[in-house]
Amino acid sequence: MWSAVLALSWSVESFREAARAALRAGIAPECIEWLADGQGGLLALPDVRDAPVLHPSPRVPRAFLGIAETVLCHRDPQRHALLYRLLWRIAHGEPHVLATPTDADMRRAMQLAQEVRRDAHKMKAFVRFREVPGDHDNFIAWFEPSHHILQRVAPFFARRFAGMRWAILTPEASAIWDGEALSFGPGGTPADAPDFDAGEELWRTYYAHIFNPARLNPRMMTQEMPQRYWKHLPEAHLLPSLIQGAGMRVREMAEREHAAPKRRIPAPPLVLPSEDIRREESLAALRNAAQGCRACPLWEPATQTVFGEGPEDARVLLLGEQPGDMEDLSGRPFVGPAGKLLDRALADLGIDRAQLYLTNAVKHFRFERRGKFRLHRNPEPSHVQACRSWLAGEIERVRPQVIVCLGGTAALAVFGNGFRLMEQRGTWQTLHDGTRAFATVHPAWILRQPADRQQEAYANWLDDLRLLLTLPAGNAAIPHR
Ligand code: SF4
Repeated sequence: MWSAVLALSWSVESFREAARAALRAGIAPECIEWLADGQGGLLALPDVRDAPVLHPSPRVPRAFLGIAETVLCHRDPQRHALLYRLLWRIAHGEPHVLATPTDADMRRAMQLAQEVRRDAHKMKAFVRFREVPGDHDNFIAWFEPSHHILQRVAPFFARRFAGMRWAILTPEASAIWDGEALSFGPGGTPADAPDFDAGEELWRTYYAHIFNPARLNPRMMTQEMPQRYWKHLPEAHLLPSLIQGAGMRVREMAEREHAAPKRRIPAPPLVLPSEDIRREESLAALRNAAQGCRACPLWEPATQTVFGEGPEDARVLLLGEQPGDMEDLSGRPFVGPAGKLLDRALADLGIDRAQLYLTNAVKHFRFERRGKFRLHRNPEPSHVQACRSWLAGEIERVRPQVIVCLGGTAALAVFGNGFRLMEQRGTWQTLHDGTRAFATVHPAWILRQPADRQQEAYANWLDDLRLLLTLPAGNAAIPHR
């Protein structure tokens, strides 16, 4: 048995040095005890760095380093052993293990990486600086991340708040930006950060004004903004009273609204989707049949059924929520602003849109009229249910290898009620018939983010979509350009 002692448990350099020495000595994963952050082992074992060199330095794929950088930030004590096991397997006849997301080690590594990315995302969203009393333009924030992410996230704040001096204190380390350079120091306590900032009162007033009671969804709110972060957020003190008064404010808003004008276009002949839509019918026949669907009330105010489009033998089916305003007018999915963002993401990933089958869980546009505007409204679960047979018909005929759900409604249609989008986004799932699928946010959700968060939301979304590139090369579901 050997030990691998790491000075910093999250440091790629520390891990790389020990892992390289162990590989060169030919030490198998089960023969190493990984120790970090001053942890002592039960036995006094020789260090892997003192082991004799028996083999040349192995070539480590760049993709592995990318995964390792993220996974090492996790607090899981088994992460070093996991990464070394992956490295060992790559070096011993399994070069494709990184592209095998069904592999148990790889799945665990992806899960840890996802948790680290989520923690980093929360830190970017919920750090709040307070000005140091009597020291103009010098700010301190207190934050308690779940993982070792300070060094990973601090450069984001250095770019974003380059013009001011700030420090972020966490229990185990601090990041300091003096206006020119970023440095790191020891951890602190909440008492080291100011407990008041005069600007917060203004922010609370603004927040109370922009709070839209009609869009209140307490479950989503606590999912997006878990209560453990509330202590960092000045606006959190307002939430209980805003939530309590939301019902009354919505009733007041409803009373102020005008009734939508009645449509006079005669109703088309009735067609109901059903589970037994004949299988021998082609996709084109199914598309034609869906044009007359009236299985739920959404057909009436909408312009037309927006059916899916793309090759009938596409290997990837991208599933959105419902058509938007432009899709409703053009009759094609993903052609509005969200579709443009999707095009950009696909281009960034080198994926050809023409090779994908694109469709929506609900085929008619649900909206609310405000004057001359038609504002998007989420479809109800009953609409998703009513439209399910059309989607099932598309899946039946296209038979994709992979289904990508964009947004909560698409995830509901594919995975059912128990799926938690923001917790399970970007992780592979296997459907009952063996089809692989994963969910991520809808591009419209990214467009709805505040301007200063959109870039990050987009980067996280790309990370999720990048899963499509991890499919084995010989079985590539995605053609690369
Ligand atoms: S939304 Fe779906 S189920 Fe409802 S009318 Fe349109 S096609 Fe039919």
